[in-house]
Amino acid sequence: MHLVLNTDCNAWDRPNAPGSPGVCRFCYRERNRVSTDPDTVRRVIDLVRAESAARRIVFTGGDPVMPYDNHLEVALAHAAGLGFETNLHTNGLLLADRYPGLRDHVTLYSLAVDGPDAATADWFRGSGYFDRFTANVDMLVADGRRLAFNTFTTGESVRRLPELAELIRGVAARTEVEYWLISQYRPIGRANPRKAEIYGYEPAAFTAAVDAVRDTVPGVAVFAQPTRAHDDPYPFRAWILADGTVTADLGSVAAPRNAVLGSMLSEGLEPLIRRAFALRDAPDEAAPPDPGRAPAPS
Ligand code: SF4
Repeated sequence: MHLVLNTDCNAWDRPNAPGSPGVCRFCYRERNRVSTDPDTVRRVIDLVRAESAARRIVFTGGDPVMPYDNHLEVALAHAAGLGFETNLHTNGLLLADRYPGLRDHVTLYSLAVDGPDAATADWFRGSGYFDRFTANVDMLVADGRRLAFNTFTTGESVRRLPELAELIRGVAARTEVEYWLISQYRPIGRANPRKAEIYGYEPAAFTAAVDAVRDTVPGVAVFAQPTRAHDDPYPFRAWILADGTVTADLGSVAAPRNAVLGSMLSEGLEPLIRRAFALRDAPDEAAPPDPGRAPAPS
């Protein structure tokens, strides 16, 4: 289950690296903040516990580690106290700042890294990103934390996967690395032809490149997320906003944004998830009105 505390991201005002099309131009997050409070966040997590068999909550955004109080520490502590595993899915830009308040409640840190060196990684996420990533890894390794990695690729950078695999293999020798998720351009949420031109390339080339490194990171589960065609849906995913709104990624690249299903605080979680499955199986059925505030997933 994914819990979205805010949909904005601290990467947006980062400096471009030379030659870059812009920081995170590939991102398909929507840009508005979730409005909630600590009691509501706790109620939301209580309902997930009561109405689902989920064992892990992924805390995501935007980026969940922001320079303001988005109730992240409250949410993590409450989820961990109820027995959930917690995955903090972050760019890590502000991780060191908030680390003391959250470290005791995080099972797994999933960090983004798109290349094996600063020239490649910073092209995607801004000047200085790779150095920050390296510092975060060193901090978490020294503290014996469990890690995972997310990598976004272009037709150029996918050739660097063997070197990135070597980097990850090195980290895995120092601490537990659970998975490595490698992705290709996803044409939803603010998609346009220019982005497709910058980031898009043949899915077959992507899949072959991932397969070539799959066995080079022993003990690390490697997942590939190629660009899908309109008739080849992405896996179903449900997202819960920290105000109780439930949204679902029904998988189609034709959908401009997640379907907004309703509020779990008034309708309960299970009926909304059932509605999502029904919508996925019969996409022509009318969905509930979309207030235009659902996040798109990463
Ligand atoms: S890709 Fe991640 S780090 Fe970049 S703007 Fe989007 S949410 Fe932020």
